[in-house]
Amino acid sequence: MTNSISTRLAVLGSGPAGYTAAIYAARAGLAPIVIQGIQPGGQLTTTTDVENYPGFRDVIQGPWLMEEMQAQAEHVGTKMVWDHISSVDFSRRPFVLTGDSGTQYHADTVVIATGAQAKWLGLPSEEHMKGRGASACATCDGFFYRGKKVAVIGGGNTAVEEALYLTNHSHDVTLIHRRDSLRAEKILQDRLFANEKIKVVWDSEVVEFVGGGDPETLVGLDIRNKHSGEISRVDCAGAFVAIGHKPATELFQSQLELDDEGYLEVEVGTTRTSIPGVFACGDVMDKIYRQAVTAAGTGCMAALDAEKFLAAEDYQALAAE
Ligand code: NDP
Repeated sequence: MTNSISTRLAVLGSGPAGYTAAIYAARAGLAPIVIQGIQPGGQLTTTTDVENYPGFRDVIQGPWLMEEMQAQAEHVGTKMVWDHISSVDFSRRPFVLTGDSGTQYHADTVVIATGAQAKWLGLPSEEHMKGRGASACATCDGFFYRGKKVAVIGGGNTAVEEALYLTNHSHDVTLIHRRDSLRAEKILQDRLFANEKIKVVWDSEVVEFVGGGDPETLVGLDIRNKHSGEISRVDCAGAFVAIGHKPATELFQSQLELDDEGYLEVEVGTTRTSIPGVFACGDVMDKIYRQAVTAAGTGCMAALDAEKFLAAEDYQALAAE
């Protein structure tokens, strides 16, 4: 027999957005469930030091922050479920979510907080240097390389913004791009080219993240010129891979409106998706800010939007009696 769980609100995903939505929903008396997914805690569980989450003077650890958020959500009345949703049916109410475990979740409202993953180049040396100098977020980690040489890989808005941001900490920023022109907006390009702290290396791909010292940290990137094939070294203590993100939206493709890069579309200024009763928050709907604190902020918005939606429905049902 299929195991079945009914809830007023199901949160999909367990990063800062999902847990914050759960905290607000639980405190509003909705007794939410959080379906945690494959990587409970989300992207922050793979980050180490966090220095920009408000409220903590000292450096805190990403996994610890997520454990605290989970504990707080449980403390106020959230039920955590360790399952991965493999299909959703948003065509009927209550919505039906089916987990890998075989359990069916029937939810009056759903908050999607499945996040996004940074894309990486896929080099074994890059994997090895994660946390030792290879990063996918300059806003998160740039501060750790103050006064040192850094590099950014990519040619879109994110790469250019990260290079500009890094000049707050470093006088020597190298942007490495695989082509001879950037796809970033012109205004950002103008700022980049006008900044004396940044140099751009064109037509080049990274072939190796090079470590050194004990304990081992990043000392440089080996790059190959795409025309000459020549390999050269860019010295740097931090390398920021900024080649795009992939939102976790495969599950919703045929049911909710997505933009052309796969992010969930929401009504401006809200977390309402194209289906009433389904809300989205965090990196799955935000390709610009992508911070733990902004994810938490939109998580709060999603819970408030869901609560308001349910209250309006209850009122209508009462009025119809
Ligand atoms: P983009 O997809 O726009 O750019 C990715 C960049 O990485 C491209 O230059 C691409 O090269 C390069 N790249 C991709 N794969 C590889 C690879 N394997 N090796 C080397 N280089 C690679 O991603 P962004 O994160 O920059 O932006 C995503 C979206 O978010 C965009 O719509 C952007 O406009 C938006 N955004 C908006 C901001 C704002 O408005 N302030 C800030 C940040 C993002 P190539 O050009 O050759 O394809």
